[in-house]
Amino acid sequence: KSGPMDTIVSLCKRRGFVFPASEIYGGIGNTYDYGPLGVELLRHVKDAWWSRVVTSREDVVGLDSAIIQNPQTWVTSGHVGGFSDPMVDCKKCKSRFRADKLDDARCPEKPSKQPGQCEGELTEPREFNLMFKTNLGAVESTSSVAYLRPETAQGIFLNFKNVLESARIKPPFGIAQIGKSFRNEITPGNFVFRTREFEQAEMEFFVPPDEEQKWYDFWRKARFDWYVEMGIRPEKLRMREHDKEELAHYSTATADIEYEYPFGWGELEGIACRTDFDLKRHSEASGKDLVYFDPQTKEHYTPYVIEPAGGINRMALTFLIDAYEEEELEKDTRVVLRFHPEIAPITCAIFPLVKKDGMPEKAKEVEKLLRRARMSVFYDEAGAIGRRYRRQDEVGTPYCVTVDGDTLESDVVTVRDRDSMEQEKVKISELPTYLLEKMDG
Ligand code: ATP
Repeated sequence: KSGPMDTIVSLCKRRGFVFPASEIYGGIGNTYDYGPLGVELLRHVKDAWWSRVVTSREDVVGLDSAIIQNPQTWVTSGHVGGFSDPMVDCKKCKSRFRADKLDDARCPEKPSKQPGQCEGELTEPREFNLMFKTNLGAVESTSSVAYLRPETAQGIFLNFKNVLESARIKPPFGIAQIGKSFRNEITPGNFVFRTREFEQAEMEFFVPPDEEQKWYDFWRKARFDWYVEMGIRPEKLRMREHDKEELAHYSTATADIEYEYPFGWGELEGIACRTDFDLKRHSEASGKDLVYFDPQTKEHYTPYVIEPAGGINRMALTFLIDAYEEEELEKDTRVVLRFHPEIAPITCAIFPLVKKDGMPEKAKEVEKLLRRARMSVFYDEAGAIGRRYRRQDEVGTPYCVTVDGDTLESDVVTVRDRDSMEQEKVKISELPTYLLEKMDG
């Protein structure tokens, strides 16, 4: 018997979404590589995020900052001193656990028990810094220590003035970034939910201090609504405000958008009020002025920051889990991933009905046409048409186009919709527009 998580993990491996990393060498714990479909899924998640948060808005611009910054960055931001989780060791099996997440943890030797409730005794908790250290240059000395970024946000703060002066933009405005972050998590796990290397999508929205609440409300709602629009079932989502004890050192208010995973409720994205903490600290530490001067009101101020921060891999996993369905049909069942068309790795599959009479050649022409329209497509001529539909259902392809006898006669193809399984005849010349309109809903 397999639970939904096992089902997702094996589907991901079998169909080429996610592979265990370094598999031929026995793997490297909780690290994953993304296969042909996984990489398209990630790319579409990133595109959808970027298009909503950056391209569609006149007040947000993008940035791509370095993963390794001057190490002073992380001293100033508080990460060197305080970016840690409390860790305990089991004195018997030497496993390490997060002291604040013991309820969710299991003893590796006795999986029915929590750590500490088996035979092993736990050490007192101690703080474990989550940043990965590395050395710059050829000489391994303390002076060359640097860190892999644990969040993309600091690169944005460091470039606040550069962007402000070059992009001719003024508060309220945002700087967005998608990129890899690294955290030496004590207990990674739940597949790609928590890994040591992951991709973040973050946006720092700089506002006049008295507009903090307004924009906090705005971004919480905007981000929550985006997940619903992208097809996540609303009853599986909730917004959870942090209480005072839970808040990070830089934050006066934070809310998590949580999803109900097969392993329980977990954070999908956080929206935080970071106040003027980061800009002020970097300004003090660097001696550089990071104040905004408003030429209209003649006021100088350090903007406050609202930050929506989500993980791309965690979003992709959430879309996968939420989309998964085993649907009972009249005669059999089918596995279907009900991805939003914008998110689906393959947008359209193209099949010749049979492998003869010139149908494959015609289908190849249709494939070329859709590739030219920059659509993610897949050509398949192997096996019965029903089996080919099922294979596409299982990876969430919203549209399948079949070339049949009618196509050869009058240039019309059959478009089959994944969810309704209904079929419609469409003229080839109108196909790209037809599909794009369908995608837009
Ligand atoms: P947690 O408390 O679960 O460790 P966090 O509150 O430290 O997470 P943030 O610093 O708010 O997480 O990071 C923003 C987002 O980045 C998270 O909502 C999540 O989607 C993603 N993220 C954080 N850590 C990881 C990780 N180890 N693996 C995958 N995604 C992550």
